[in-house]
This record gives sequence, structure tokens and C-alpha cells, in this order.
Amino acid sequence: MLKVKDLHVYYGGIHALKGLNFQIEKGEIITLIGSNGAGKTSTLRAISNLIKSKGSIKYKDQEINDLNAEKIVGMRLIQVPEGRRIFTALSVEENLLMGAYLRKDNEKIEEDLQYVYKLFPRLKERTKQYGGTLSGGEQQMLAIGRALMSAPELLMLDEPSMGLAPIVIEEIFQAIKEINQENGLTVLLVEQNANIALQTAHRGYVIETGEILFTGNAKDLLHDDRVRKAYLGEE
Ligand code: ATP
Repeated sequence: MLKVKDLHVYYGGIHALKGLNFQIEKGEIITLIGSNGAGKTSTLRAISNLIKSKGSIKYKDQEINDLNAEKIVGMRLIQVPEGRRIFTALSVEENLLMGAYLRKDNEKIEEDLQYVYKLFPRLKERTKQYGGTLSGGEQQMLAIGRALMSAPELLMLDEPSMGLAPIVIEEIFQAIKEINQENGLTVLLVEQNANIALQTAHRGYVIETGEILFTGNAKDLLHDDRVRKAYLGEE
């Protein structure tokens, strides 16, 4: 579904991504794990074409490097940005419907709205509440729900666990698994929390200072000494 080859990103003199290679098959949850500043956000922003990059990004066999960000959203490649970026002065339901602004299939939009409410009952209890008054966890649910309202084929999540309590993280990652299992949605998950990311994903890539160090099945990576020492805080 997505094939990234020799991807480079520069910020002025800083070479942030140094030739990344990875791919995602339809129906997979893939995680990109790495510490602060490793290049995870830059990777997602390059795929969504929010920043300039060099190399090849093929989505469903089409080169998308030169397409503008809106076109990419139209191709159902949807990113949930780091820090949620919900509309604070709009209600929960208005936020969700903003996700569907490019769609015209009204009946399916209503069906998807009910699906989001089933997935996140806390949002259903708060349809009229302003986005800005939600807790961090609820805002993350809203950001994911809004992305689902765009009918994604590939959903990219940038650090959904950031700043949240463990119990809320569990709830959100359980929902990510559920969407994948029920709808076969393909997911690219970028995380610093290697533990939860590897428990959720099928495969993982470890990224440091703009390079992929190694890759493998998520279960194998969870038990890999290099991952345990560097990302799970074990000796
Ligand atoms: P974090 O979890 O902190 O967001 P990350 O793995 O997502 O980290 P990136 O945000 O992609 O990492 O950053 C990769 C590198 O690029 C870092 O060295 C960062 O300082 C640099 N960088 C990111 N954005 C910019 C920018 N707008 N201008 C200059 N340098 C940047």
C-alpha cells in the first residue's frame, strides 16, 4: 500500500532523514519507533507532503511526492498530527463532521459517525461539548475519530500516547487494534512509547537520527535486547 524508498528531508543545513526505506502492506499496523528527534514526525509530514522531501513515496502504486497535501487527503491517506490539533471552539460533533468535508456520500458519513461513537463512547456522551474543554485523552479520541470520518485507507498516527495516562493509552490503542481488525484499515503508527506500539503493531521499524537501524516482527522486537535497552528502559 505504501512504499518509501531513499527518503531524505533537509531543514536548511540539517539532514533530518537520511535515506529511509520501508513499506506497508494493506491491512498491516506498522510502527516506527525511536526517541525524541529521531525523524518520526518528519517521515509522516513528508508522506503527507506537508514538507519537501527527496526520494520515492509510492501509495497504491502511484508516486505522491509531487501531489499537494489536499490531493493526498483525497486519496484517503490521512494523518492524525502530533498534539491532536482539534478545533477547540467547535463541538465534538462539529469536529467529527469537519473530517468528512471532502465527502459527498451522506448516508455513509452518518454510518461512520455512529461507528466513531461506538468506538469511543466518551465522545458520544459529549457530542455538544466544545473540543477545547475535553481531557487530553478525549481530544486524542476526537482527533482519531475526525480522521476516521475522512474514510481513510491508510491512517497515520503521530504519537497518540503523548502526555496521556496509562489507562487512557490502553483504551486508545485497543481502539486502534479494533479498527484494524474490524475494517482491515492499514495503520502507520509513530511512537516513542515502544512498549505499547510494539504490542499493537504487526511489524516495526526502529529509527534513530534519520536512519532505520533495524526492522522485524513486533513481537520479536519486543524481546530484542537492543530495543529493550534503548527504548524499554531495561538493563
Ligand atoms: P519528536 O518525537 O520530538 O517529534 P521526531 O522523531 O518526530 O521527534 P522530528 O520532529 O522528525 O523527530 O525531527 C527530526 C530532526 O529534524 C530533529 O533533529 C529536529 O530538530 C529537526 N527538525 C524538525 N523540524 C524542524 C524544523 N522545522 N526546522 C529545523 N529542524 C527541524
